[in-house]
Amino acid sequence: MGKLFGTNGIRGVFGKELTLELALKVSYALAIYYNDKPILVGYDGRHSNTVLSRVVRAGLNAMGIDTFDAGLIPTPCLQYATRELGYKGGVMITASHNPPEYNGIKVMADDGVEISREEEAKVEDIYFKNDFQYAKIIGNDAKEDRAVETYINGIESLVDVNSIKRREFTVVLDLGNGAQAITAPRLLRELGCKVITINEEINGLFPGRGSEPTPDNLQELSDTVKANNADLGIAYDGDGDRSMFCDENGTIYPGDRSGAVLLEHVLSKDKGIIVTPINSSIIIDKIAEKFGCKIIKTKVGSVEVSRKMLEVSAIAGLEENGGFMYGKHIAVRDGAMSSALMLEALLKGRYSELLSKLPKYYSYKTKFPCTKEQSSRVIEYLIKETDGKVETLDGAKIWIDDNTWIMVRQSGTEPIMRLYAESDDKGKLDTIVKEYTDKIKGIINS
Ligand code: MG
Repeated sequence: MGKLFGTNGIRGVFGKELTLELALKVSYALAIYYNDKPILVGYDGRHSNTVLSRVVRAGLNAMGIDTFDAGLIPTPCLQYATRELGYKGGVMITASHNPPEYNGIKVMADDGVEISREEEAKVEDIYFKNDFQYAKIIGNDAKEDRAVETYINGIESLVDVNSIKRREFTVVLDLGNGAQAITAPRLLRELGCKVITINEEINGLFPGRGSEPTPDNLQELSDTVKANNADLGIAYDGDGDRSMFCDENGTIYPGDRSGAVLLEHVLSKDKGIIVTPINSSIIIDKIAEKFGCKIIKTKVGSVEVSRKMLEVSAIAGLEENGGFMYGKHIAVRDGAMSSALMLEALLKGRYSELLSKLPKYYSYKTKFPCTKEQSSRVIEYLIKETDGKVETLDGAKIWIDDNTWIMVRQSGTEPIMRLYAESDDKGKLDTIVKEYTDKIKGIINS
């Protein structure tokens, strides 16, 4: 049987891997899978989004399913609204942080969270059986305009709005031409912040700094924070589920640092189980230890984390890429929820101060263009040549010592191999990164 779903839903280059024909057939399969109505459909700011949304809704309607069009919203807004407004499922047209030529279809259950890997296999089964008949009564398509308000109210219900308002924080938002432009500025203004925005125009070509915020492409955010003496800078990815934070001095920290600060804050309010992928920082283990909370590791991929969170009723989930999930809100990554929690954390001290209290670790992350076949060879070789401890839950995570590791895995969304490494010793980190980069390049080019 073929494969439709990658790490994060059905994703590919629009017009090549992801055609309108494929989207239509996927929607037929989803109609049979959901076998219920109504379904909420939303999309982010990519150019191919409205055509894909129309095709998906038409396909569902043809099979007798009613649809509601939530319009252009961030992914977590669609997810939250799906659950809160009582939909039987949600479909989001998005390729998240991928380059502009990509698009994708994310499939949510009635709890607003992406369907599990097992449920994805059911949809694939229906899709590849290819036995579709139109319904006798065609479904209806209508507008849903309550999603944004429902989402913002939900976030505000979980933070101390009055205390945040009293502080009158100045916050710079780098919206990255993405979908949080619809919701984040409004949320922060309602929280009493003076909001300065950059890259606020929604544009599927992501002309500002690209659709994926990383410490390397947020110079404008850093400069704007400094120029305005702002308390905080925040950057979102294309569909607004991931967030990166910048301190009051203009320093951008990787997602595992902001995640650690958010985790400390959340656990200081309520203790509970934490779920995080295997490539997360040792800092997260240390924080869990400090609060006496259990930590569960999963494969890389937000679906794995989200589904595990629901299974164990976790309080928080987090990814090293700036994806933070608050169990009390919804078990999905949410840039706006993370922003509100960060402002609440700032009531205790400046962001740089909160960061300085974290255990000291150095991390590194890079990627190599790489086919699946090449990455299998790399992973196989690295596992074979290591005599230390290796974890193979996802790719290969090699422990050099108790406080140093390096990990490689093939991306589920792009033809690249990702490398992650961490150590409490900067010199050691640089040495192993160089050593493994040379090895990996050697194998890829052999
Ligand atoms: Mg995203």
